[in-house]
Amino acid sequence: MGWRESAACRGEDPELFFPIGDGGPAERQTARARAVCLGCPVMPQCRDWAVRNGETEGVWGGTTAAERRLIRRRFVGRLPDG
Ligand code: SF4
Repeated sequence: MGWRESAACRGEDPELFFPIGDGGPAERQTARARAVCLGCPVMPQCRDWAVRNGETEGVWGGTTAAERRLIRRRFVGRLPDG
């Protein structure tokens, strides 16, 4: 996972990317985490890694766990190697 060297979240509190629950505070935390991801040069690699590895928690590559489940269902076997 060499892409992690370039991650925009390296200096961030890791807990930012793992909101608990699904109410307003968690949604605001998710939005803050996504904002970091949107400025990240390795967002596609991070997202694809999380999808491929079935990460069930947290924001990875700007996606939530629910979004990654959807991606897996639609694109399983069609992601590029990485
Ligand atoms: S896309 Fe988001 S979670 Fe992934 S490395 Fe970049 S900042 Fe971190």
